[in-house]
Formats: sequence, C-alpha cells, structure tokens
Amino acid sequence: MSSLDTEIAVVGGGPAGLFAAISAAKNGSVTHLYESKSCIGKYEHCSGLLSIDGLNRLGLSDLPLEMVQNCSIIGSRLFSPSGINITVQKSSTTAWVVDRSKFNQHLSRLAEEKGVVIHTNSKVTSIKRDNNKIKLSLGKKSPIKNVTSPLLILAEGRFPHLNQQIGLPYPSYGEVVFTTQYIMSGVKNIDLKYVEVYQTPEFAPGFFAWIIPIGEDEAKVGLGSRSRPTGKYLRHFITKHPIAKHKLSSASIEKQMSGAIPIGSFIRKTYTDNIMVVGDAAGQIKPTTGGGVILGGLAAIKAGEMAAEALQTGNYSARFLSNYEKYWKKEMRSNLTIMKLVRQYLNSLNEKEIERLFELLSTQKRKEKISKIGDVDNQKKIVFKLLLDLRFLPFVAKTGVKFLIKTKRKKVI
Ligand SMILES: Cc1cc2nc3c(=O)[nH]c(=O)nc-3n(C[C@H](O)[C@H](O)[C@H](O)COP(=O)(O)OP(=O)(O)OC[C@H]3O[C@@H](n4cnc5c(N)ncnc54)[C@H](O)[C@@H]3O)c2cc1C
Repeated sequence: MSSLDTEIAVVGGGPAGLFAAISAAKNGSVTHLYESKSCIGKYEHCSGLLSIDGLNRLGLSDLPLEMVQNCSIIGSRLFSPSGINITVQKSSTTAWVVDRSKFNQHLSRLAEEKGVVIHTNSKVTSIKRDNNKIKLSLGKKSPIKNVTSPLLILAEGRFPHLNQQIGLPYPSYGEVVFTTQYIMSGVKNIDLKYVEVYQTPEFAPGFFAWIIPIGEDEAKVGLGSRSRPTGKYLRHFITKHPIAKHKLSSASIEKQMSGAIPIGSFIRKTYTDNIMVVGDAAGQIKPTTGGGVILGGLAAIKAGEMAAEALQTGNYSARFLSNYEKYWKKEMRSNLTIMKLVRQYLNSLNEKEIERLFELLSTQKRKEKISKIGDVDNQKKIVFKLLLDLRFLPFVAKTGVKFLIKTKRKKVI
C-alpha cells in the first residue's frame, strides 16, 4: 500500500494526538493516526503526575489500576534552598502517578476501540496543500508513502517540525527546559502521600527538582534546568542538596530518561485552513510545573470534535476551525499567561529571595490558604489571593521591579 485517503489524519501518538483521534472517531469520522516510533508509548519521558480532577475531565475516571504507580498523593512538600518546608495538602487524594508508557498504550487501545487506525513507524515528513485537501508524505520506514485528507490534527510534541511548513508558529527552542529523570530504589524518608518539589536556582537553574514517590522506597527523581547537561545537575542534586542527599545518596538508579518541556506557554495561532495544532506542539503546557497531559488532552478533545463537525458541514476553513482556538483559549489562556509570568518571576529570583519568599509563605494561615485554594491545573486563583495579601507587598514590589527590568532585557526564561 503506498497511498491512503482518510477523513481525518492525526500526526503524533502521544496523549494529545490520541485524545484528538479518540474524539474525532467518537464523533463518527474515519480517523488515521501516524506515529513515528515503532510502538505507542515506547519511551517514558514523563513523571506521569496527573490530577484526579483533570483525569475526570478527560473521561478517565476508571483508569486501569495496573498503570497507576501511586494513588495516594494528597499534596506537595515544597522546599526552599535551605530546606524550609511548606506542605500544602487536601483532605483526600488529589493526584495519581501513572506509568506514562502504559498510559499512552491504554489511550491507543481506547482509540482502536473507537475505530481509529494507528500506523506506527510512520513519520510524517512534509505537508502540502492541494485543492482544499492536505497531502502528507511519510518517511522511509512507513509502507504508506502518501496520505490525503481534508482535515489534519498536528500533535508532534515538544519539538514540532510540521507547524512551520504550513506557516503556523511553534514553541520557541529558547523557551525549553531540559530534564533528566531517574527511577530510584532505596530512597529514604519519603511519604507516598506527598510529591516533593525543590525550588533552588543553584541545583536546578530555571526550573526545579522533584521526588515523586511510587513505592515505600521507590521514586521518580528528576530535575529540569535551562542549561545542560541535566544529568550532571541531577547527580549534583542527589549527592549535594542539603535535604535531598539524605534521601537519595545511597539509593540506586533503576532507569533513566531525559526529555524537554516547552515552558514559553501557548503559540499565537493554533489553526489554519484544514489544520489544527494540539498539545505540546501548541504550547498547551503549564509553564510553572511542566504538566501538559491534562491541558493538551482537553484541547485535543475539542480539536477532534471540531474536525468531525467540519467534516459533517463540509467546512474546513480557518474561520470555522478558529472555534477550536476560541474554546481552548477561553478555558486556559488567562491561566497559562499567569503561569508563564509566575515561572518567569520565579526564575528572576536568586537563592536569597526564594528563601525570603518561603519565609513569607510558611505562616500557618498562608499554608492553609494555599492548601484550600491551590489547584495544580488552575493556578491563577491562588496567585491573585497571595498578591492581595498586604504582607507580601514590600517583597513583591522590590523583586517585581527587578523582574520587570530583566523581562525588558529578555533575560528571564
Ligand atoms: C521529565 C518530564 C516530566 C513530565 N511530567 C509531567 C507530569 O507529571 N504531568 C504532566 O501532565 N505532564 C508532564 N510532562 C509533560 C508531558 O509529558 C507532555 O506535556 C505530554 O507528553 C505532551 O503530549 P503530546 O501528545 O503533545 O506530545 P508527546 O507526548 O511528545 O507526543 C508526541 C508524539 O508525536 C510523535 N511524532 C513527533 N513528530 C512526528 C511526526 N512528524 N510524524 C509522526 N509522529 C511524530 C512522537 O514520536 C511522539 O510519540 C513531563 C515532561 C517531561 C519531559
């Protein structure tokens, strides 16, 4: 077989592509998905920390337990550079940790059940427009060489190549954090109920380090940083960080993975005639924490619905598909914009200023406020509440001026 016609083509078999394909097929469209790797979920590039609320919104409240590595998370322990610990928590489970390979494979099974045809070893190398249709060319490993479809959903992930070919923006390489994550056993002093976050410019410049428990003495231990090699930063964190070294320095590395997270927030435009862009490729990812499965998934579900509706009406125009962007921007633009500012602001602080911020946050009243209002997928509420807190004003005013100057000189992120 060398050519194929389909109603909807989806490029990329990560969560965003799979959610888009499931939703398009559910709405009655013939949907084919193209994935460059030899199987779905081949590499686990992610920590797999997903909020319960987000999973419910994605329609995944009944996720099979075999892929859940920890179903006890009720909150986070945030550590300052010197080790001030702020615990924020809810009274019940707020998030699950999943094995991301198995999670993707589960989504691919759901997609196939809905009738999506998944082609692996199928890298899409170029896109051309021909008479209100899109023509895709596929790479050497694929038995199919060309695909024609009226509608295309691009979900290539963090370093997309195809957005540019059709004149759409893409997440800037300059706004990416690089990551290394180990699965470690023999970790001491962790609690299955809490994710640990270490905000420390010395050990993780431009992002943070994390310990996510997945067993009594087993954890995903990772770090994101603006500079490389991140493996070196992570080893430094494990052996030298004043708190983390007591938990990690005698633990062993079972598995290693690396990846990148676009933290520059969403791209300016996510649609054109016949085409929509979803997931990391559209920058639908939280710049504060690097979580993208839930937001990208929600946007992708809408893109799948819009594609199916476009087919039913025969209207593939940019104007019609702009409804997809209207939806996801209404849902998440203000939140993503604030999260980007928060990330940039945090990156502008030095160790001493972060220490002071933790001191200010660590009063009982504020910890309770954060626990009560904090929401990992919707962080703007808590940011506004804290900004309205008068005792923050002198600190915010002082560091805010420095932040504005740095932003003007484009030295943040
Ligand atoms: C270390 C790390 C930890 C993270 N932790 C979390 C977390 O705890 N929670 C969370 O929500 N998010 C987390 N993320 C982010 C999350 O992994 C991404 O937001 C999510 O995977 C994005 O999904 P996606 O489908 O857009 O892209 P991807 O998952 O990157 O999938 C893109 C797919 O497209 C395929 N592809 C690319 N180009 C082509 C092409 N031309 N033709 C065919 N196929 C192609 C790729 O092979 C890939 O399979 C983390 C990321 C990293 C790096």
